[in-house]
Amino acid sequence: MAIDATQPYDDDNIFAKILRGEIPNKTVYEDEHVLAFYDINPQAPQHILVIPKGKYVSWDDFSARASESDIAGFVRGVGHVAREAGMVEPGYRLLANIGQDGHQEVPHLHVHIFAGKPLGPMLAKG
Ligand code: AMP
Repeated sequence: MAIDATQPYDDDNIFAKILRGEIPNKTVYEDEHVLAFYDINPQAPQHILVIPKGKYVSWDDFSARASESDIAGFVRGVGHVAREAGMVEPGYRLLANIGQDGHQEVPHLHVHIFAGKPLGPMLAKG
């Protein structure tokens, strides 16, 4: 079910639990700003999620409230993960879903990295 991205941060969301180590994950990369791990239900041959360590509901919340340091750390973290995974030469796709129409399901900001095959047109029709 899609979330309402205008609601306050929920400490019980699944990515908050992953960050606290309460739920296991397959970590790809971690630094002081970000955690990157494999999506549990991959939609491409390579499907990695990158999340900031701070408590941000969505891209909207993050872009409005995060410090310059957190924003730089997150953007650099996403780029680093894709680069280290060898995705730059063949190419890859970034996606951040926000709120109801964006079909965001987890209320902690995450960027999807998809790669591993030609990904086709940007949006599914319908
Ligand atoms: P979104 O619709 O953008 O909120 O995407 C949420 C993503 O989180 C989906 O692609 C899920 O497959 C993924 N997901 C949910 N729970 C887990 C989990 N425990 N570990 C890894 N990925 C997860």
